[in-house]
Amino acid sequence: MLHLLCRHWGHLLSNTPVMPQCVPPTITIIFCHFRTAGILVSYQQCSFSGKVCHAQGRVTLLFQSAGNPMCKLAVVMCRSKSAGLNSTRHSQHSMILVPMDTPGVRKIRPLTVFGQDDASHGGHFEIHFDNVRVPTSHILLGEGRGFEIAQGRLGPGRLHHCMRAVGVAERALELLCQRAASRCAFRKMLYQHEVVSHWIAECRLAIEQTRLLALHAAYTLDTHGNKAARKQIAMIKVAAGRMACKVVDCAIQVHGGAGVSEDFPLAQMYAYVRTLRLADGPDEVHLSSIARLELTDQLRRTAAKL
Ligand SMILES: Cc1cc2nc3c(=O)[nH]c(=O)nc-3n(C[C@H](O)[C@H](O)[C@H](O)COP(=O)(O)OP(=O)(O)OC[C@H]3O[C@@H](n4cnc5c(N)ncnc54)[C@H](O)[C@@H]3O)c2cc1C
Repeated sequence: MLHLLCRHWGHLLSNTPVMPQCVPPTITIIFCHFRTAGILVSYQQCSFSGKVCHAQGRVTLLFQSAGNPMCKLAVVMCRSKSAGLNSTRHSQHSMILVPMDTPGVRKIRPLTVFGQDDASHGGHFEIHFDNVRVPTSHILLGEGRGFEIAQGRLGPGRLHHCMRAVGVAERALELLCQRAASRCAFRKMLYQHEVVSHWIAECRLAIEQTRLLALHAAYTLDTHGNKAARKQIAMIKVAAGRMACKVVDCAIQVHGGAGVSEDFPLAQMYAYVRTLRLADGPDEVHLSSIARLELTDQLRRTAAKL
């Protein structure tokens, strides 16, 4: 997700004094959103006094790639105290670049995902931020503009995850069909049991529906921009995670015990697609957004008719 941040906001990163000294060409950057904390140990916030940002927080959170030795920089998004009560809901957060070697940043322990180290990108970590201070020049774009940056990268980033979920589901269905056509149970091939053939059909339906939804979201994003595509992005975010979970689950079922063993990639696929229903915001939050945007659209249409 961070490469998208860099693509759209790379000029901000390169204008920030922290970059030249700590960024080798292959740096890994993690994104730490302080509002989403697995176990919140203390209130997290940041404040600005003079020329120093003061970030305080202790979170147990799955920070993707934090275990990568190339991880030199965290983009911390947190509520900034000085945004004040009068500021709008979306102008109370800032994004701040925090080099990982800043005093007070501590990697506490590696975390597993479904019992796996998920280390292909470096692994997840619990990170504590205790009295971390960085110059205010490390604020990206400006104080209170964190959501503005986030909106720019969240849409494409989420869509990217959804497209990968469609790919995972395709592979799971392929494995399902191979198994159904090669395994005999109760004197019939598995695909000859009606329930299995219906699963194959349902999976194909679900994949195609999700693919089209993803295409529509991508089209809206490309042609009308992030803001206009919010509803489509939220819809595909929910639909893709659900669909991929369902398809991989069917494939596991058709493989029997082998489906949850290391002989097939299905258990790992399930762990991956299940996290999609949480990472980047849980389904319930996206459903609430879809409902709110739908109501707004409907009310606008009604008002236009009057
Ligand atoms: C594999 C993985 C990688 C991640 N990587 C990162 C990362 O790199 N950077 C980062 O900042 N975060 C990361 N996260 C964190 C992720 O964004 C949060 O876990 C997610 O947003 C949920 O927040 P939470 O864990 O604090 O759960 P909570 O906020 O405690 O929510 C728990 C549950 O409560 C319900 N709930 C919460 N809010 C609402 C609501 N408004 N309406 C209805 N129900 C609600 C939902 O069912 C939700 O699942 C990662 C998570 C995972 C699983």
